[in-house]
Amino acid sequence: TNACLAAIDGAGALNAFVHHTPEKALEQAAQADARLKDADAPAMCGLPIGIKDLFCTKDVPSQAGSRILEGFLPQYESTVSQNLFDAGAVMLGKLNMDEFAMGSSNETSVYGNAVNPWRRGNDAAQLTPGGSSGGSAAAVAADLCLAATGTDTGGSIRQPAAFTGITGIKPTYGRCSRWGIVAFASSLDQAGPMTKSVRDAAIMLEAMCGHDPKDSTSADLAVPDFEAALTGDVRGKKIGIPKEYRMDGMPEEIETLWQDGIAMMRDAGAEIVDISLPHTKYALPAYYVIAPAEASSNLARYDGVRYGHRAKLDQGDGITEMYEKTRAEGFGPEVQRRVMIGTYVLSAGFYDAYYNRARKVRTLIKKDFEDVFAQGIDSILTPATPSAAFGLGEMADADPVQMYLNDVFTVTVNLAGLPGIAVPTGQDRQGLPLGLQLIGRPWEEADLLSSAYALE
Ligand code: GLN
Repeated sequence: TNACLAAIDGAGALNAFVHHTPEKALEQAAQADARLKDADAPAMCGLPIGIKDLFCTKDVPSQAGSRILEGFLPQYESTVSQNLFDAGAVMLGKLNMDEFAMGSSNETSVYGNAVNPWRRGNDAAQLTPGGSSGGSAAAVAADLCLAATGTDTGGSIRQPAAFTGITGIKPTYGRCSRWGIVAFASSLDQAGPMTKSVRDAAIMLEAMCGHDPKDSTSADLAVPDFEAALTGDVRGKKIGIPKEYRMDGMPEEIETLWQDGIAMMRDAGAEIVDISLPHTKYALPAYYVIAPAEASSNLARYDGVRYGHRAKLDQGDGITEMYEKTRAEGFGPEVQRRVMIGTYVLSAGFYDAYYNRARKVRTLIKKDFEDVFAQGIDSILTPATPSAAFGLGEMADADPVQMYLNDVFTVTVNLAGLPGIAVPTGQDRQGLPLGLQLIGRPWEEADLLSSAYALE
């Protein structure tokens, strides 16, 4: 813990940690020391970790990367962070993220972006750590903490993991409790670990997840021993390669990475099967209707009354002016865009044309996966991202749709509620990390982690 606290102090330029909690860390570490005398102390005991700013942490600022939550001090602890503390984990502080987890580059954060510790060769240009869990990814990659929590609504664990050369798993929807996590799109949001290895991901996921009566969508299922299931034995497993993920204009190095991963699995004894997920091309448009729709509803609670920031009002301003001024000041441009898209697609005149249609498309995407699993496919191998980490500013200044295209390989998994893991398996020509994604059957994270172990 002391080594991590020192590393964090020396790495301010990465802008990964946005709230520091050294006193809490040292107190938890002392308790962990006492517990570690016990032979059966949990594997997480004493491990210093970072917590994404989206998690409510008791008496510690929890702003979800937004100005509108300035000054908000939760009176409760999220179930996931509480589970980790119960297992003996030590919290070093809160990690940077895109505002309300909306983004793929960490550039929508009120704190300014976190920075990827990797560079292109000798080029000094700073790169994005990805988003929205960019602070978590940068902190783990730069050894500021041993692991971090992330959340993934459309790829926000897997894309930053791939951009920084670490491992990140989004579990099956319902595996981790969402209680105490600031809601973005409730039917898609899932928490998960971001770690240095597949084994660490197995250990941390086991500590994080489990049934929680406070979240009605949390599954009442036993938590397997994920670490014990890590054999890396993929002999006889059927790994599907979906043809729709071979996108036009995909860089050659991503294609090579994918082929190398396929060869690795085949050499390890897996059976490689070409599959089709025919509705893949509708996933991004469906996601960018459903996620903003749910966000516009979830974010209605930020009204200047109940939480955080309230704008200064002029004489004679009423409640409408208070809402308008507070939201204009408190929400950044990307969040405002999502709220406007969301209210539009949910409005009476457009509900059927957009929201309802997107929900039907979502069902078809889910069915594509069910069909291939029914054919005996165990997991699906794809690239995690369409490119390596890009330069800060490169995409943020472009059309927002360019940024949305980053999520092309990851959003399908959230729409279908499946588990997906990103594992670093290669590098591009300039030495930047690249990752592959494995998508698993629902609730079969143990099997998914074990197969990912074979790729590592
Ligand atoms: N980049 C996606 C978005 O902006 C995904 C974000 C996430 O998974 N939280 O919506």
